Amino acid sequence: MRLDLHRHLEGSHSPAALAAVAEQFQLTDPLFFDAATRRYRPPGQLAAALTMAAPSDDATVFYECIKKARAAYVSEAAIGELSRLTFLEAAADTDGFEMRVSLFSMTRTLLENERVAWRDVPPAQFAERARRLLLVVLAARDAAAAIAQKPMLVRVGFSRTFESEPHYRALAAVLPEHRAALSGLDVLGIVTGPDTEPMPPALRALLEGLRKHLPDLTIHAGEFADHRSVDRMLELRPDGIGHGVHSVESDATLERLARDGVTLEVCPTSNRMLIPTSLARLELRRGATPLRALQQAKVHCVLGSDDPTPMGTCFADEWALAQKLGVDLTLLEADTLRRWNQLRR
Ligand SMILES: [Zn+2]
Repeated sequence: MRLDLHRHLEGSHSPAALAAVAEQFQLTDPLFFDAATRRYRPPGQLAAALTMAAPSDDATVFYECIKKARAAYVSEAAIGELSRLTFLEAAADTDGFEMRVSLFSMTRTLLENERVAWRDVPPAQFAERARRLLLVVLAARDAAAAIAQKPMLVRVGFSRTFESEPHYRALAAVLPEHRAALSGLDVLGIVTGPDTEPMPPALRALLEGLRKHLPDLTIHAGEFADHRSVDRMLELRPDGIGHGVHSVESDATLERLARDGVTLEVCPTSNRMLIPTSLARLELRRGATPLRALQQAKVHCVLGSDDPTPMGTCFADEWALAQKLGVDLTLLEADTLRRWNQLRR
């Protein structure tokens, strides 16, 4: 089964889906609408603005693409339709998938697009808005699943940017009621500064509280930072690590991952686009692509497309690339099924 087990909703809005939603909801943002000709831009034109032109170690290049697409988050109805199209496209690209939803950033963006200062919104009110958005996304998932007849899991991500503890806390408080519709929790986010993969103590406490309700935890780590970041995150006993490719720098980290049965979600094109210099160094060190080196170290690995639109990829391409890079596809399939069964239990 070709299951995409690391993919973000915000990074999966295709130019075609965005163009369709822009026209349907009459969005006049210059990204979508050319005021001079009074015409909506075709998907081909949108693609140039939404896709990274070349690999870059500067993560803000990637983040700018994500931010642009958020111009379509103008209403719950628009987000619902965009999500429905995005789930359908992900289904066409896979045999099933898990989609990560950055609920805080989506809620914040919707408020910003409504010209509301989100920090002034009382946390409880912010959380109710987030709940409504989550229900919109889940309804979009259900509608797409009914058409595509493929399994679609949804995981809620918390950003380590952790902009406001009270707002995060209030948002976390609404999630237990929706646990039956969710596969777990994720920690993500682009952070600049000396520590690119921090774990704020208050976020850690929040996750620990939530795991009573949503036990499956994945954490982005060892992507921008080195293997010590993976070591630190393993203290939280996650079920999966997003990326984690820097683990190949340390035999001790690899041994621990293998022993604890932690799954690494590896996204080859994402690494090539976002961390090209580190990737080259890691490949040189092990004489193999990180995914293959991790397999050789008996670490369970699954494959993901991460953010296919800004990275200019799709899951089918990731599978083909893995084959080209010498990845053991039989092992990859076995590890994918193992993880899928964990997620569906
Ligand atoms: Zn990711």
